[in-house]
Amino acid sequence: MNEHPPEEEDDDDVPGQLQTICPYCGGGGMVADPKHAIIGDSPRTIDNGRSCPHCKTVGHFPDIIPPV
Ligand SMILES: [Zn+2]
Repeated sequence: MNEHPPEEEDDDDVPGQLQTICPYCGGGGMVADPKHAIIGDSPRTIDNGRSCPHCKTVGHFPDIIPPV
């Protein structure tokens, strides 16, 4: 009787593994967007973040993208 090597059992039960985390936002879907604003009379920096233009806020891509 042959024993099943564990590393050969993941052929078809790992859906969604082929994806690449967005390097632009790190998978969060949002990127920092600091900007200066004058609130009252005080200049300050606001960082509300904004949607990642690279992955459309998804945070990852449904495919393998090799690192450049
Ligand atoms: Zn992104």
